[in-house]
Amino acid sequence: MKKALSIAGFDPSGGAGIQADLKVFRHFGIYGLSVVAALTAQNTFGVSSVLPVDRRFVKKQLSVLLSDIRPDAVKIGMLLSIDNAASVAGIIKKHALGNIVLDPVFISSSGKRLAEKEMSKALITRIFPLCTVITPNIYEASVLAGMKIRDADDMQKAAIRLRDLGPENVIITGGHLEKAATDIFYNGKFHYLKGRKTPGEYHGTGCTFSSAIAALLASGSNALHAAEQAKKFMNKVFKHSIESSGTMRLLRI
Ligand code: PLP
Repeated sequence: MKKALSIAGFDPSGGAGIQADLKVFRHFGIYGLSVVAALTAQNTFGVSSVLPVDRRFVKKQLSVLLSDIRPDAVKIGMLLSIDNAASVAGIIKKHALGNIVLDPVFISSSGKRLAEKEMSKALITRIFPLCTVITPNIYEASVLAGMKIRDADDMQKAAIRLRDLGPENVIITGGHLEKAATDIFYNGKFHYLKGRKTPGEYHGTGCTFSSAIAALLASGSNALHAAEQAKKFMNKVFKHSIESSGTMRLLRI
């Protein structure tokens, strides 16, 4: 059975982070492994509090796990500390892991900071060169590329800048743009992943999309095919969300 590893944050609501990733891996028939890099206290109203996991313990979790089990893909989500980014990069290199998917996490939809201030620099220098795919939304892409993103043209420019920094494939998700929910996939050529905008706020969409890509890479898909299938999966799951008392809906996976 193919295996995928999520290195991400713990979300008690199960809508984002490790719990979401494990559900998605299972959906795609992939055995899920996980290493916790941060803890959060949150619900469907938003993130109340965050706590980093010490870098040495992140490293310990990874080295003990990887001395035994080798994942076929790795999804990296909320790392919170720059130290964690350095630890994760070091271990990925040491074990020569492949099929690395990075979902850069800086801030929650509710406005809570989920990464230290200099995280974008740490991701660019340490993690980007190892990545098969990165999946920033337009806000994350604008921080990483150092430019404003207002429309599809800006998304293309940002995708070129980001790919120049090392990842093999760049996907900028367009769900936060006003009209369409088209994502841009760039691997030296542009491809477009179409979606219909679904009204409402959904919790953990970035986590769900990126872990679907990791699962599909683990099962042997190439990056473009994985992205296309993951987008189809997202279009489907938006139709089956769970009502919540908070401001965000939970995706039913
Ligand atoms: N909590 C964790 C652990 C996350 O990884 C993320 C986003 O990646 C969030 C919360 C924020 O999710 P959202 O902005 O969809 O609420």
